[in-house]
Amino acid sequence: MLGLTASEAAEKIAGGELSAAELFAFYRERAAADRAAGAEGLNCFTWVAEENGSADGPLGGVPLAVKDLFCTEGVPSQSGSKILEGYRPPYTATAVQRLQGAGATLLAKTNQDEFAMGSSNENSAYGPVRNPWDRARVPGGSSGGSAAAVAAGLAPWALGTDTGGSIRQPAALCGIVGMKPTYGSVSRYGMIAFASSLDQAGPLTRDVRDAALLLSHMVGQDPCDATSLQLPEPLAVPSAERLDGVRIGVPGELTGEGIEAGVLEAFRAALEEAVSLGAEISEIALPHAPHGLSAYYVLAPAEASSNLARYDGVRYGLRAPEARDLLDMYTRTRHDGFGAEVKRRVMLGTYALSSGYYDAYYGRAQRVRTKIAEDFAAAFGHVDVIATPTAPTVAFALGEKTGDPLAMYLNDYCTVPMSLAGIPAISIPCGLSDGLPVGLQLAGPAFSENRLLDAAYALEQALGFDGSAARV
Ligand code: GLN
Repeated sequence: MLGLTASEAAEKIAGGELSAAELFAFYRERAAADRAAGAEGLNCFTWVAEENGSADGPLGGVPLAVKDLFCTEGVPSQSGSKILEGYRPPYTATAVQRLQGAGATLLAKTNQDEFAMGSSNENSAYGPVRNPWDRARVPGGSSGGSAAAVAAGLAPWALGTDTGGSIRQPAALCGIVGMKPTYGSVSRYGMIAFASSLDQAGPLTRDVRDAALLLSHMVGQDPCDATSLQLPEPLAVPSAERLDGVRIGVPGELTGEGIEAGVLEAFRAALEEAVSLGAEISEIALPHAPHGLSAYYVLAPAEASSNLARYDGVRYGLRAPEARDLLDMYTRTRHDGFGAEVKRRVMLGTYALSSGYYDAYYGRAQRVRTKIAEDFAAAFGHVDVIATPTAPTVAFALGEKTGDPLAMYLNDYCTVPMSLAGIPAISIPCGLSDGLPVGLQLAGPAFSENRLLDAAYALEQALGFDGSAARV
């Protein structure tokens, strides 16, 4: 069972060769063992299901691991934070509900950076996640539990969210596939918010076909999220083996300085593979992309400071005892409940939005965001797909960057521009450097999911990456 992709498992269940209950029991046991091992294990999960849900539909009962920040009715949904300890929502997020409606069963909730703020999963109030390729290293973040679980074979596939890179970067560091779709294509209803103009849900899977299948059952307009949209065409499971005529643009700004040599080597080898499949490679310019991180670290904290104002000890989770009065209760609850990175972002965001500074920071960052989107629009006049490494380095050691937030923020150098522009991007494993996986990112214009999945699938077949060494 461990050798099957989720799509293969769904086919076998549909064909009567495999029972959904057996598959669920198999993965439940593996996930529960990791949870029971605590800090000795990979620490991928914050909750594991006791029993199998109903399994009718095209996803045939294949179990699904879901990032902690998706609300799941009656099941702990804490967004990696102590301030939501014990919170069990009365409803389920639309994305999860749709997948359950299509026959996926909830296997587990996955560990993550607190409120999705982080690139290493070391910001979780429930302890760090370890990378199954090397347990002394981080899995990436913030969807690190989802990525490590899929890479280690503790879940067939998983849901994550990506605000500035949190699906693509952990997928890259764990040697699996991760896709952030076009902003708005998946409903954010029931996703515990970080930065609402950037947050998007997406799949973390073993291969590209699994990503297409899972995403195809999540997308679509939802009356509960006014920013959600209908994709102009249905998502198809990819089958193209060639890249004839596909124009791939390589931006100098995201493929030079700051990217590790071993990562660049694997990236260039993947481009050569693309050429042998018929693609045309050309250099393009994204002149404002290097300013993406600066804009992101004003905009995302600004939105977070507003979204996180609701955690006051009154409505959800933690409430500090022994407060003198209401204000004291708010203050103590937030003091005790939020971790250091979350406090840093709330302070940064509050500052950036304060009167007198609003134009200088927030207003300017919004203008940079527009420039970045315009760069992409201009580039897509010449090319169909843009390729970059997903992350500048391979997985780094636990503790290596925790003392230096700016070094940590650089992880998202290549992924943040696409988030700011709202365009889709996929990361696929493209090789190893020092025995650790390297991710290749492909990005396209809004609603080009099918094109990206086709290109990623063709490359995946040609590259033949083998992730089985990470399975536990
Ligand atoms: N690492 C980035 C951050 O800390 C992105 C996180 C995300 O995409 N959720 O904000």
